[in-house]
Amino acid sequence: MPFKSLYDCCINAKSIDYCYHCIEYRVCWSQYYRFKTSYLCNMSFFKTARPYIIAGPCSAETREQVMAVAAELAGMNVQLMRAGVWKPRTRPGAFEGNSQPALEWLQEVKQTYNLPVTTEVADTNHLELALKYGIDVIWIGARTVVNPFQVQRLADALRGTNIPVMVKNPVSPDVDLWQGAIERFEKAGITSVADIHRGFSGYTAAVGYRNQPNWPIPIELKRRKPELTMIGDPSHISGKRVRVAEVAQKALDMHFDGLMIETHPDPDAAWSDAAQQVTPAQLRTILSQLIVREETTRDMSGQEQLEYLRQSMDSLDAEILDLVARRMELSGQIGNVKKSCNMTVFQPSRWSEIVDGLCARSNMHGLSKDFVTELYQKIHNESIRIQLSVMEDAPKEIKK
Ligand code: PEP
Ligand code: MN
Repeated sequence: MPFKSLYDCCINAKSIDYCYHCIEYRVCWSQYYRFKTSYLCNMSFFKTARPYIIAGPCSAETREQVMAVAAELAGMNVQLMRAGVWKPRTRPGAFEGNSQPALEWLQEVKQTYNLPVTTEVADTNHLELALKYGIDVIWIGARTVVNPFQVQRLADALRGTNIPVMVKNPVSPDVDLWQGAIERFEKAGITSVADIHRGFSGYTAAVGYRNQPNWPIPIELKRRKPELTMIGDPSHISGKRVRVAEVAQKALDMHFDGLMIETHPDPDAAWSDAAQQVTPAQLRTILSQLIVREETTRDMSGQEQLEYLRQSMDSLDAEILDLVARRMELSGQIGNVKKSCNMTVFQPSRWSEIVDGLCARSNMHGLSKDFVTELYQKIHNESIRIQLSVMEDAPKEIKK
């Protein structure tokens, strides 16, 4: 007897029987094949396509809107449909989602189009309802991820279900907090976890973005947890539909595994995030123009060129480090002189002189001023640290 939803399947069978039931389930309900593979083979639910595409409206507004977008997405290479049912709004008075009726519409999408569905849950009541209505995947929003108590409550409530979970980055660029939230779900036994990069809030947003992409943060998360599926959310990063394609491509070029793109039948009339949603026709164009690159190549000449260039780069990196070490040695010697002459470690005029000189030089080389200033700020901080420790030490002989 097949279960009616993944929720039934999960709560009714928790041991090896569970996999057996899932096989039965697959025979009867072929659309659930993916669940079987992820549970039986321990393969991530999200590894079924590359790129893994999630699309759908910011919010589930009406039954008609949800079904209209689903009808379009079902005919595209989209693996999962998204729609917000509970909307975390920045200020009160805005549309906060349709709750339970919207879950019924998503259930109808599953039944009609055989398209798995996902929604955001922010508390255990949301989660209970989402599971009851057979939501296939849940996501945790940026504003919830900042609260470890709330994340832990959700993780505890999910224990034993093995529902795939997607964790958006917290609003602040804190890679440890993001990683911590992911690990709470992993520790609760969730084997399919994906992370979603939706950009970071800032008092001064980087020009042209709603949320700053700050790419080094998701790249660091990927370094720490390479097995995770990393989804880019170009809609919330860009905040405007004209930039969605460009940010989506950038995410793929950064080795992201998938994309979440907000899609609405009539974006300008959307009840939330109107400026950033695209129409299904625009989504089709974006998807058809994406270039999916591989991490490695079988092209022998490409491999040889890369090998040569990488070796040259490695030897330059070694030289850079040797030079930095020599510079730090000089810093220590300067510290000794300053100490014996009773001078302060930091001289603002000298630092301005260094920065001005470097900016002129970076211009000559076509390097960005911001990059060079940031790089030297790090080097200068280390110099100051060394000189401060010299000041605290017993006097040393000054090397000639
Ligand atoms: C959303 O995906 O519509 C949403 C509310 O996202 P975030 O949590 O990234 O703000
Ligand atoms: Mn949105």
